Amino acid sequence: MIISMKKHATQQEINGVVEVIQQFGYRIHEIEGEERVVIGAIGTGDTSVCLQTLESMDSVEKAVPISVPYKFVSREFKNRRTTVTAAGNVHIGNSKFVVMAGPCSVESEQQILKSAELAAKGGAQVLRGGAFKPRTSPYDFQGMAEEGLKLLAKAREQTGLAIVTEVMSDADVALVAAYADIMQVGARNMQNFALLKALGKCGKPVLLKRGLSSTIRELLMSAEYIVAHGNNDVILCERGIRTFETATRNTCDIAAVAVLRELTHLPVILDPSHATGKRSLVPPLCKAGVAIGADGLIVEIHPNPQKAVSDGAQSLDPALWLKMMEDLGPYIALWQKDKAQAV
Ligand code: PEP
Ligand code: MN
Repeated sequence: MIISMKKHATQQEINGVVEVIQQFGYRIHEIEGEERVVIGAIGTGDTSVCLQTLESMDSVEKAVPISVPYKFVSREFKNRRTTVTAAGNVHIGNSKFVVMAGPCSVESEQQILKSAELAAKGGAQVLRGGAFKPRTSPYDFQGMAEEGLKLLAKAREQTGLAIVTEVMSDADVALVAAYADIMQVGARNMQNFALLKALGKCGKPVLLKRGLSSTIRELLMSAEYIVAHGNNDVILCERGIRTFETATRNTCDIAAVAVLRELTHLPVILDPSHATGKRSLVPPLCKAGVAIGADGLIVEIHPNPQKAVSDGAQSLDPALWLKMMEDLGPYIALWQKDKAQAV
């Protein structure tokens, strides 16, 4: 529920309200507000009695329940958009469009350093690359693990790019958090609740990808897990879902970006690479992502896609990547102008 205090409520009155909320078994999540104090409270207590009690208090202006099950991440809870800051200088969900780019997997020092250079040259602020890879076949390349994380750290040192990389298990959270600036949860792990809980305590922003067959509500519930366990810095990612359509690897649910922007205050980005599975479809989908108001993109690029150990068919080669970023320039400029006006 959300409790709005009267404009000139004193600290003592606020403390009194907090005490009542806690007596009903609710947890205080956030207290904010410029003009007046607004208190967010979550719990499983008797909401109607609690609301009545609060509304009868002189210092309370209004006490209303949050109607959706994804409480903390909903716009009912917080109408102002969240900006997630990674590595101190990358702001996602702000007035600057953020591009993350890099190979599907970290394959070698040369490959990741070249990719990083290329990503930076195109104007990306974040380098992607998997060191722990969720592969459909147990016989496929599984990633370089810590060795790969070290190479990503080296690429960050050389280029200044922030690093986003996947973590597949709660047991690896501390290890990956020691290197990554953003912790990626892959589509296959969107409902790995042990992992989500651990990420609530990891101290780094989380990029949560939509599950292969997950609804928007399920995605938001997974985000809620991370926030409920202590981490407000969650970025959502639409990466295509499984449908009857076989022309593309997945079906890009582009509308999900707009839907999510209505339902949640968290930033939303688009992954056109996994959504389509095909290099030629990535540039048009990127344009769609910018146009629909995504906060950024995550794109697979590779210095030599023909040699990529994973997802080569959807990875942009250097020329295509640089051309795409150039072509996106005017779209991003318009996006930025819209954002500046909206603020
Ligand atoms: C990836 O980003 O390389 C990846 C495996 O993506 P997804 O989890 O969306 O399939
Ligand atoms: Mn991939």
